Amino acid sequence: MDVVDLIRVKRDGNALGDAEIDWVIAAYTRGDIAEEQMSALLMAIYFTGMTSTELNRWTAAMIASGERLTFPGLGRPTTDKHSTGGVGDKITLPLTPIVAACGAAVPQLSGRGLGHTGGTLDKLESIRGWRASISNEEMRAQLRDVGAVVCAAGAGLAPADRKLYALRDVTATVESIPLIASSIMSKKIAEGTSALVLDVKVGVGAFMKDRDRARELARTMVGLGSAHGVNTVALLTAMDTPLGLTAGNALEVAESLEVLAGGGPTDVVELTITLAREMLAACGLAGGKDPVDAIADGSAMDCWNRMIRAQGGDPTAALPRARHQQDVNASTSGRVVRLDALAVGVAAWRLGAGRARKEDSVSFGAGMQLHAKPGDVVTAGQALFTLHADDDTKFARALESLSDAVQIAATDAAWAPAPLIIERVGS
Ligand code: URA
Repeated sequence: MDVVDLIRVKRDGNALGDAEIDWVIAAYTRGDIAEEQMSALLMAIYFTGMTSTELNRWTAAMIASGERLTFPGLGRPTTDKHSTGGVGDKITLPLTPIVAACGAAVPQLSGRGLGHTGGTLDKLESIRGWRASISNEEMRAQLRDVGAVVCAAGAGLAPADRKLYALRDVTATVESIPLIASSIMSKKIAEGTSALVLDVKVGVGAFMKDRDRARELARTMVGLGSAHGVNTVALLTAMDTPLGLTAGNALEVAESLEVLAGGGPTDVVELTITLAREMLAACGLAGGKDPVDAIADGSAMDCWNRMIRAQGGDPTAALPRARHQQDVNASTSGRVVRLDALAVGVAAWRLGAGRARKEDSVSFGAGMQLHAKPGDVVTAGQALFTLHADDDTKFARALESLSDAVQIAATDAAWAPAPLIIERVGS
């Protein structure tokens, strides 16, 4: 086959055949297709899209580029969650042990943060001794013994995606719904879960700013999951405001522990419980133990402790705290009506909680505590945020990002809370 012919097919808005798709993905993964030719093909797909037949095959070819994990003999169904990423999104941390405590097995392969959204592995690495990289055998054993694993995806999982994602990043072809859907779903299907709940974030702090595009992405991913035998549902959830009251690695672990102990911010609790119930229903465990009971009876916290210990972590160790703190106070009194998720995410990142390049390290204690959320009434001079940084020269740039992050209106001005769960997309 000649890749130039395939580029021409897509450039002219036509569909590739199964054999052509299998060939191009396999050849690119082996290094037999030049980067400039794959770039041209991706740009043609960006502009002309893919039919659902093409997209199913493209995703299947990406899965087939590596291994597909299986978990025989667990004695309980597998279920997982994927979030498209948001500010303060620590939901995986309490969710995984809660769902395991309700009887499912959760094989959660996660990533590190890049840019203004944090990564689950960075958060967990703030726990002393915790290891993100474990072998497939260790993962299977932990799923059998504990029921919950959060770890890094091995190099053998959908290697085509690793190459394609890096190329999309430098060719302005990330924002294509078929390319995003195949990228996310190839990894989640290869991970071996039998059920999947997608948390597709919508809003200023999310990858998808627009509700219609988020819905289209959700529908596309749900369709791909179903086509590959994974029972998949999606929730569209709001990401205009940060989730919870913290953004930053160790700060978010501490907040997750509050949720497991029966407290925590109401939005984090609401989303965790909603996603947990969806995950249990998707794997056939609806009507069994409820997530609220798993928190109340301590079994979710017990599962967390075992999950952390199984990967070398010490759940009793004090979490890292940044060397410097600085408060930001309200300049006027009134009701907070807007708290911009993107501004908070960028500020946390500038404080050292995130990385600009893959090879950068993160500061585990850095980030932000939020003392007021939309709907709260504040008085002038009251602290709105506490910034945490190991290097106090970072405060100035973080403050720049926060200059227009909060809007305070008159206390009696009309205000209604925006719903957190916007819509459910089922198969
Ligand atoms: N996350 C992924 O894994 N892939 C994309 O294309 C976008 C977000």
